[in-house]
Amino acid sequence: MTAPTSMLTGDRIYRIHWLPGTDTLRGRCHCGAERTAEEPVELWEWLLAHPDGHRPPPDPGPPTPPTSRTVLPPTAPPSRAAVPA
Ligand SMILES: [Zn+2]
Repeated sequence: MTAPTSMLTGDRIYRIHWLPGTDTLRGRCHCGAERTAEEPVELWEWLLAHPDGHRPPPDPGPPTPPTSRTVLPPTAPPSRAAVPA
């Protein structure tokens, strides 16, 4: 999936992207916070309320070395539905 095209540049750009094939809009604040909504008014109110309710995505920080081993819980055999004779 390609990143949305960004036509404008600046420090205080609000963006709203329509997610094709859905009724969902994704708003992105200049602070990096994102929210999805189906109502554009709701999204604009949230965007313009910056910084209320805005929390930028967490900084991934330095990469952590992979754990040496991942232990998965034992998987149960698939249950079979009783089939009436
Ligand atoms: Zn913001």
